[in-house]
Amino acid sequence: MTEQNNDMETDNAVYKTLLESTKAIPWKIEWSSLKFTYIGPQIEALLGWKPESWISVEDWASRMHPEDREWVVNYCVAQSQAGTDHEADYRALTSSGDYVWIRDVVHVARKENGEVDSLIGFMFDISERKKTEQELLTLQKKLEELSFKDGLTGIANRRMFDSILETEWADARRNQSPISLIMLDIDYFKQYNDEYGHIQGDVCLTRVAGILNSASSRPRDFVARIGGEEFAIILPETDEASARKVAERCRIAIEQEKIPHAKSGVSDYLTLSMGLSTAIPGQSDTALSLVEQADKSLYQAKNQGRDRIHDGS
Ligand code: GH3
Ligand code: MG
Ligand code: MG
Repeated sequence: MTEQNNDMETDNAVYKTLLESTKAIPWKIEWSSLKFTYIGPQIEALLGWKPESWISVEDWASRMHPEDREWVVNYCVAQSQAGTDHEADYRALTSSGDYVWIRDVVHVARKENGEVDSLIGFMFDISERKKTEQELLTLQKKLEELSFKDGLTGIANRRMFDSILETEWADARRNQSPISLIMLDIDYFKQYNDEYGHIQGDVCLTRVAGILNSASSRPRDFVARIGGEEFAIILPETDEASARKVAERCRIAIEQEKIPHAKSGVSDYLTLSMGLSTAIPGQSDTALSLVEQADKSLYQAKNQGRDRIHDGS
């Protein structure tokens, strides 16, 4: 054996030791056959499946959470075909039937002529990180539920709306004064997101919230974001004619803002549909009837072509 061969053998042994002693699990798939030509023995400690049981990409795909499988396989195949290095997070099935979060980082190795030769990757166990992420999400959700403020727009949220409506409803009943409600829903907002992106969509929602806030001027007028792109305005001591004026003011304020909406079916700019309802609460009436009536009016406004106010008459 020559000295050079000897060196190479030593090098290979070093590489092998390095690869098989890291926490990341190395693997290699030959592109023409889609078969594993190597997988680090560490895989057994992590998932319980023996290295020799990883034969083809089908073994990889079948040992994946059913909810992750389709997009991960499609994504990885598409990226590999395009010759692009990529990574994917998914839940890998263990031999005992549990799942472990994996990050698979993939390098696409090419032949001299540019064709894909093989995929070489590392699997990382990211279950701890995912657990922390999940815990943070749950915590954030809990905080939002406990809060009265909408996290995106800063105006009142659904929870606050329910609470204020109950209070104002009881007050209107006691004083036998009219109370009005305006329900507002952005027109073609799905198309807005599709055209300008979700982040721009969020910016737009914040602008709308600000405009509605300024347009309802009396101290007890109350604006909330009660759903994705749905807002509500409670108007205590307000009859139908006055409520219509507030709604009209909101409509004009949004119109003057001229927020471009190229994919709207009714205008070149962002518009809202609004439904009104007004009541002087009777003893047995609930606030829910006011909400239902405004919802019905809103539905009519949408049905009759959007970008309009409907008052339930
Ligand atoms: P319509 O004129 O009938 O109201 O049509 P629409 O597309 O506005 O109504 P739909 O209720 O079908 O869709 C509402 C869309 O609003 C769905 C979603 O894409 C978007 N949306 C909901 N919440 C949010 C949010 O918090 N941020 C962003 N950017 N978009 C949201
Ligand atoms: Mg909606
Ligand atoms: Mg809408």
